[in-house]
Order: sequence, then structure tokens, then C-alpha cells
Amino acid sequence: MPAIIASKAIDIQPSWKTEFSQCISSIDELLSCLQLTPEQLSISHQAAKDFPLRVPRAFVDRMEIGNPNDPLLAQVLPVIEETLVVKGYSSDPLDEIDHNPIPGVVHKYRNRLLLIVSPSCAINCRYCFRRHFPYQENRQSKQQWQKALDYISSTKELNEVIFSGGDPLAANDSFLGWLTEQIANIPHIKRLRIHTRLPVVIPSRIDDQFLRWATGTRLLPIMVLHINHSNEINLALLKAVQRLLSKGIRVLNQTVLLKGINDSAQALVDLSESLYDIGVTPYYLHLLDPVAGASHFDIPITQSQAIYAELQATLPGFLVPKLVREIPGEQSKTIMS
Ligand SMILES: *Cc1c(COP(=O)(O)O)cnc(C)c1O
Ligand code: SF4
Repeated sequence: MPAIIASKAIDIQPSWKTEFSQCISSIDELLSCLQLTPEQLSISHQAAKDFPLRVPRAFVDRMEIGNPNDPLLAQVLPVIEETLVVKGYSSDPLDEIDHNPIPGVVHKYRNRLLLIVSPSCAINCRYCFRRHFPYQENRQSKQQWQKALDYISSTKELNEVIFSGGDPLAANDSFLGWLTEQIANIPHIKRLRIHTRLPVVIPSRIDDQFLRWATGTRLLPIMVLHINHSNEINLALLKAVQRLLSKGIRVLNQTVLLKGINDSAQALVDLSESLYDIGVTPYYLHLLDPVAGASHFDIPITQSQAIYAELQATLPGFLVPKLVREIPGEQSKTIMS
């Protein structure tokens, strides 16, 4: 290719929306990108019908070609094990429907609540505890959001609002900017937290429009990313995190402990070290929520605690995430170490 064309090609950065709309949703296409054959994997088209395959190309690029056990592939590939019916695994393991006082709001803990800002995600993670959540009932217009805002206004013990989903950053910046402004008008709210995986899987999401509303507010912005394996961290993500940090946004990370993906002390040590290298602080290491279709990711509690003890024995304290489980009815996440 002539040099001039090559340099032009590099200049053209697809917007995050283009990348979002061009996610891979075909199993065949995913396998062909990775040079894998169906015989090497336990693919289930039924599982894909229940919860579709969806993965951004920028994330597939971080998978290893020809590796059927790739830890990133295992997070997105619909497999036969998902169709097993296993006792104790349900469609609403965290009892969120009962804590949905008004559409769009999940209020369980005293001084902070979740807003289900967007029903969709850029990536469909097979272990997701919200894979069966009734998002349609939580979809709403600006007018309907007024009820959620009234609830926040009248609940004086709240001081923090968390944008959640789905993935909140799948929503438009104009809507997110509007919602943030409404929340900033409520005097007792101090902090705005954004729980998102989108900047991990599509780093171009951290663009100027995003930074404008996220930092143009009196609320203190905090971002909690969701990264499970050090292979998810690449140069594009490093640059996105640097943009956040340079604007004063704190960046934390939560991880789910998952069989076949990160169930060794070494994998978790590598993850914490790689997070630190890009300026992200490990926050939570979650035990799997017992959601139907995810039982094959489970690790027995004693084994989880043994892995965690080794992690603690290897890392400095500030790089050790808290090992937690969400137990319905509790006032906070429960420490399990
Ligand atoms: C996890 C969660 C939070 C946030 O909990 P922190 O311990 O503050 O990170 C808030 N509300 C709900 C409903 C949650 O599930
Ligand atoms: S809510 Fe988070 S864990 Fe669930 S599918 Fe979306 S990005 Fe994945």
C-alpha cells in the first residue's frame, strides 16, 4: 500500500457508535476470525437464541487466534453447558425485581442507588447476572425519568447515584448529559458513579462528548470498569484510561471470578499488576451470582478462598480487590475472605 494511503487509513478512527453497531453476532463469523472450527468447541445455538452472541471487533482482536480455550472467547461464546437446568440458579438471583421501586431504579443500599440507564450492552457476557432482567419494563422517556429523579430528591439519605444497565454508556451522551444535570440539581447527591464495561471493549467510547458531560458537573465522577483478564488490557484501553485520569475521573475495576477464565492466583495477580500499570485500582472480586445458564463458571467457595489467600500472599495490599458476594437482603456486598 502506498504510504500516503496507509497514513490516511490510520487517521480515520471509527466512532464508538459505528463500532457498537458493527459488533459480531454470528458464531460462524467469530470462529472464522479466530481460525477455529465448531468441532473444537461446545457451541449451542439454543443458548445463543436465549441470550444472543454479541462482541465488539475491538475485543475479538485481543483473543488469541487458534485457541479454543481463550479466556476472552469463553466470556462471550454460547455453549451447551448454559442450557443445563441447575438447582439454585435462577433468572433473578439478586432479587432485583423486588427492589425496583419505580422503573429504572434499583435501591438496596442506604446511601446509594442504581439507575438502569440503558438496556443494552456492547458485549453479551455469558455469566451476566442481568441476562434475564426485564429491561423492556425499565425502558423510559425523559418524562418517565422524572419519577426516578423525584425519588432521588425525596430520599435524603442518598449521596451517590450509580449509572448502571445493561451498560449505561450504551446510551447517548446527550441523554446522559441531561440526566447528569438533573441529578446535579439535587443538593444531597455528591457523587456520580458509572459502572461500565463499554470503554474496555470499545475504548473509543471515551471521546470528547463523553468527557464533556462527565466532567462538566459539580458531581464527583467515578468510573468502575469491568475487566476479568489481563489480556483485555491493551494500548487503546490504556489511552482511554489516561484520558479519564487526566480529567480527574477516578477509575476502579471489578472482576468476576470465573472458572476457565481467571480461576488461578497467577491470572489474578497478572490482572491486578496490569490494572495498576494503566492507573486502575482493583476494587471488587465478585463470586459468581447464581444466574440460570452460568453454573459452569462456578468455583466452589473453599477453592475461591484458597485462590484469594494466595493472591493476598503475593500482592501488595493496595492491589488486592475485596472478595465479595452479593446476598439478597443484605445492606452491602458481603466480604467472603
Ligand atoms: C453493588 C451495588 C451497589 C454498589 O455497591 P458498592 O459496595 O457501593 O460498590 C449499589 N446498589 C446496588 C443495588 C448494587 O447491587
Ligand atoms: S451488564 Fe455488564 S456483565 Fe452484563 S452483559 Fe452487559 S457488560 Fe456484560
